[in-house]
Amino acid sequence: MQRCPACNARLAESPICPRCGADLGRVMRCERLAEQWLSVSLQCLQAGRADVSVAAVVRALSFRQTPEAKLFKSFLIRRQYRALYESLGQKRWPEASNIVNGLRKLQGENEALRRFDELIGYLSA
Ligand SMILES: [Zn+2]
Repeated sequence: MQRCPACNARLAESPICPRCGADLGRVMRCERLAEQWLSVSLQCLQAGRADVSVAAVVRALSFRQTPEAKLFKSFLIRRQYRALYESLGQKRWPEASNIVNGLRKLQGENEALRRFDELIGYLSA
């Protein structure tokens, strides 16, 4: 954070705004946590753990809706749909089901995901 969200004064390291006195400690902590969870999310994806990456980016966004985290979330959604089609094509049902659950964490419940669940249930029976 470079400027006070209350009065727009330039901020130094202190969590107290030098102009209006607002205590920005909590805001700064949330900002830091958002950055840290986004970094965990990126690292987990690199390490091949897309499931953990999904959980971490959702966590990052719960602390702050940064443009970077939003962008990474949309990237993950596209990536996970591709992974879903691949696992369906290769009949890896439990994996497909996990991916659908991850997409639900990213997007919330929707009709497409309900249908994927039905499809997986039908094909794997
Ligand atoms: Zn201020």
